[in-house]
Amino acid sequence: MRALVVDPTLIDPGSGGRGRGRRRRAQASSSLPVEVRDVRTPVPPGPGWVLIRPALAGICSTDLALVHRDPVPNVLSAYTAPSTFIPGHEVVGVVERASSTRWAREGDRVLVEPTLRCAHKGLAECRRCRAGDTHLCENADRGGSLCSGRSVGSSEKAGGGWSEGFLVHEDMLVPADGISDQRGVLAEPAATALHAVLRWTRRGDTAVVIGSGALSRLIVATLRRLHPDLDIIVLHDARSTTRPRMGRRHRESAPLNGDPNAAFMAIRSIGANRVWHGSSEQMLQKTAEHMEARVMRPAGGGLPVLDGGVDVVFDCRASALSIDLAVRLLRAGGTLVLCGRSGRHEIEWSLIWARELTVRGAASYGREPDGKRTFGTIREWLSDSSFPVDGVVTHRFPLDEYNAALSIAQAGTAAGAVKVVFEGPAATSLRPAAAAIVAQQPDEPVLLQSTAARVRGGRVKVS
Ligand SMILES: [Zn+2]
Repeated sequence: MRALVVDPTLIDPGSGGRGRGRRRRAQASSSLPVEVRDVRTPVPPGPGWVLIRPALAGICSTDLALVHRDPVPNVLSAYTAPSTFIPGHEVVGVVERASSTRWAREGDRVLVEPTLRCAHKGLAECRRCRAGDTHLCENADRGGSLCSGRSVGSSEKAGGGWSEGFLVHEDMLVPADGISDQRGVLAEPAATALHAVLRWTRRGDTAVVIGSGALSRLIVATLRRLHPDLDIIVLHDARSTTRPRMGRRHRESAPLNGDPNAAFMAIRSIGANRVWHGSSEQMLQKTAEHMEARVMRPAGGGLPVLDGGVDVVFDCRASALSIDLAVRLLRAGGTLVLCGRSGRHEIEWSLIWARELTVRGAASYGREPDGKRTFGTIREWLSDSSFPVDGVVTHRFPLDEYNAALSIAQAGTAAGAVKVVFEGPAATSLRPAAAAIVAQQPDEPVLLQSTAARVRGGRVKVS
């Protein structure tokens, strides 16, 4: 089968390629360490494992950072992916091969929850997995007898979605019946958005979302669904409309045909009340006027602080600038939910301490405080056409056009791109007829009623 492989030896002969790099460099069609290759089709390592044929597989900022080999914060380096791997953890696809499974059948269309935990790896369960917080698995950096890595898309044995096939355990699957490929490929980022929103306990009526990419928009859609009366302000990412961040080694540039007005309209149509764009000073002033909050000026000059500001900021940019803006926008006792790929920054901790702000990290999904699996809720929402996320996927590319795909994804809204996806061999158009989903028990998989009846009836082979 074919796969888009990240291999540092394609551009760096000194990175373990034993001299292959210089030869390979001529073959690589871009300055990135990626190429489409024929690779061995992975074999399910044990009972319950299945081979998935992708329909669509998304490109996210984590993938781009890995492909561009952006420096990883040192403290997180224990979790880095193997040097040669197949990315892709946002996937809707079809079960191609299943053996000794409880419910997954060949031909089933499925959403993939990509997180690997102790049980998937063949390890004894850690304390967090035993407690049900599998997204916080304490063995995330460890490999076991079955596989290694944190998730699909950064695992040597399981592979990833930028391919014609990869492995998952059936309890990482959720039925995708009645959900189009275009919506199904958003399940993973939508689950990330829902988890981020549920990290906030509402005690006010105004929320700010910083950012303009797919996660920001999915957070807006989630906030609107859970809080119909909430005032949602989006601070459109200033950088992305003016200066796309191209990788150091990435010389091909995407056409910069993004229309900020179109982006603003799209974000409003997904649920935002207001979309603003400007400097931190302008955003603080504008928010103060809107909320009738007091603008307090530090004696030594510099940016003001709002007294009576917003209840929560979801920071999808998570840069030094955006975090500094966020803590100034928040009311005393407010909450900052950090959703972006942040690193080491100098932060105004005095505001966090003196105004008793809460800072919560959000990076994953699993089971939420209501006991429901995040992906189970997202499956219901994606099945409901009133969840307004149809415009989030803006570009589809075959694997072979990876240069264009990665370039457009990296340019983001500056190139009019929100979510860029690869088309896999199972890509289809919309399938009709959403089946009802069964009420979920905490330890049961998310199944359709028909499938659950089959499993309960004992007519399936259980390993
Ligand atoms: Zn664990």
